[in-house]
Amino acid sequence: NPLARARYLLAAHTPGQLPPDGGFEVAFAGRSNAGKSSALNVICNQNALARVSKTPGRTQQLVYFEVPPHEQRYLVDLPGYGYAKVPKDLQAHWQKFLDNYFANRNALRGLVVVMDVRHPLKDYDRQMLGYAANRGLPAHAILTKADKLGRGAAGNALQAVRRDLRKEFGDAISVQLFSSLAKQGADEAREVIGGWLQL
Ligand code: GDP
Repeated sequence: NPLARARYLLAAHTPGQLPPDGGFEVAFAGRSNAGKSSALNVICNQNALARVSKTPGRTQQLVYFEVPPHEQRYLVDLPGYGYAKVPKDLQAHWQKFLDNYFANRNALRGLVVVMDVRHPLKDYDRQMLGYAANRGLPAHAILTKADKLGRGAAGNALQAVRRDLRKEFGDAISVQLFSSLAKQGADEAREVIGGWLQL
């Protein structure tokens, strides 16, 4: 698993702090508590990789992990929304940064949206998927905590999300079940991400 080499590089809270825009990167989005950190850790075969993203005060930063030995291959952890209460002006600044990042970042090759399989496609998730669709960027939806549902219910949830996304966004978005607890779906996710990063 080439993603097992991933390691923390930097956290950017202004555009000027981003690494030079020359490589390949995949962004990870998800609402708070969806299970994004756990999924990142399982996909990268590490116990605490994404812990740094959860440091208080880091709710408005893009956290970069580099994937050696290649140059400029990055996983980018976007802040989770849902709980963080931030002042209005900060929010506006952050929204602008994020809009700009999605619209203009050349290195961005794909978006992964992590959702709780029991609560998929909330407004924030649709906003993120919309960003990707707007610039023709491929996206991959990870429906995690699949262990919380029986096999039949999880399969039904997968089909429902797939149908919904196809209707709204066409064929640009793939979907899979995942469980960090049961370590289910990691290979499928690695395949997609590794392809986008050309690992
Ligand atoms: P984040 O806020 O999106 O980064 O979410 P975390 O990865 O921190 O997970 C939020 C909570 O859900 C934690 O209590 C995790 O232990 C739990 N969790 C995450 N993934 C799974 C999973 O696949 N199965 C189950 N049962 N619990 C999970």
